[in-house]
Amino acid sequence: MQINVPQMAESVVRSERRGVAKAITLLESTRPDHRVLADELLTALLPHTGKSFRLGLSGVPGVGKSTFIESLGIYLIRQGLKVAVLAIDPSSSLSGGSILGDKTRMERLSMEQDAYIRPSPSSCNLGGVAEKTREAMLVCEAAGYDVVIIETVGVGQSETAVANMTDMFVVLQLPNAGDDLQAIKKGVMEMADLVVINKADIDPVAATRAQAQITSSLRLFAMHGNPEHGAHDAASQKAQWQPKVLQISALQGSGVDNFWNTVQEYRQINADNGHIAQRRQDQSLAWMWERIDAGLKQAFRQNAGVRDSLPQFTEQVRDGKIAASTAARQLLQAFQGQTGL
Ligand code: GDP
Repeated sequence: MQINVPQMAESVVRSERRGVAKAITLLESTRPDHRVLADELLTALLPHTGKSFRLGLSGVPGVGKSTFIESLGIYLIRQGLKVAVLAIDPSSSLSGGSILGDKTRMERLSMEQDAYIRPSPSSCNLGGVAEKTREAMLVCEAAGYDVVIIETVGVGQSETAVANMTDMFVVLQLPNAGDDLQAIKKGVMEMADLVVINKADIDPVAATRAQAQITSSLRLFAMHGNPEHGAHDAASQKAQWQPKVLQISALQGSGVDNFWNTVQEYRQINADNGHIAQRRQDQSLAWMWERIDAGLKQAFRQNAGVRDSLPQFTEQVRDGKIAASTAARQLLQAFQGQTGL
């Protein structure tokens, strides 16, 4: 395809769906010449980014993520907002299977003119998938989508990746989750700004019990000084957000308005106290270093000197003939010698 970056950027900013789709396809390309153009495109789009609300959403398969996103998306569109839905599905690269099963999902939402839904990029590693999704998010922002929802499955490390690229991280739970708090991954709950108990229609009593149990465990996290949630900021006079737990029925669409009001409240508090701006700055810098680490590692593995001696060092370390740290030092020296670092 013939790629004209300024034209492509203009098409994105004009919010043309084809332009948005083509831009994301370019960003997802692994061809080195495409990468150069993709970086030019990102630079051109960057002044137009930053205005969307970035909402991360996670939950185990079957909890009701796509049903919820569909209800929420349509609700937001009725309020005059434009909604983009992106996904990080680490399984999409494994044998072509996808836990999120994108094709048949969100049929009603995908018919809406003001919705843009893009399935998870596939890549051999989570870092690669996350990078592409993060860049796709910037394209959607430049195209004027008011809310960008980034969805992930509650398996592996993908939740951390999503929490680290969004303004707010929401975890969806089943009503029986409270019965077995051990089963809830503590690390994920600690990242949650909001926990939503879905399918409350099936068992309202269990949902209410789960709400109480999860609320009290979130309080415990906060008491133990989870830095994400502002306990350290007691000196500041500005209001701090305390994570909340809500109940909804995504299928019936009940509780969606309450959910969105709570998101608005979060957004207001964290805009006023500077938390969102700070979070975005921290995320961008952490992201830069993440990609530097990944890039250096890749350059290291592709380096001729390293490639020559790596098998031998690997064997010697495996056989206990050389200390791991000595091998690492010598390999790094071989790398530095060749790259002139
Ligand atoms: P995902 O894998 O997390 O995206 O889950 P889905 O949105 O595909 O939902 C899995 C199943 O749960 C589907 O059969 C949905 O119809 C059903 N479901 C989702 N939300 C609700 C709800 O609030 N109540 C009930 N009763 N069923 C729901």
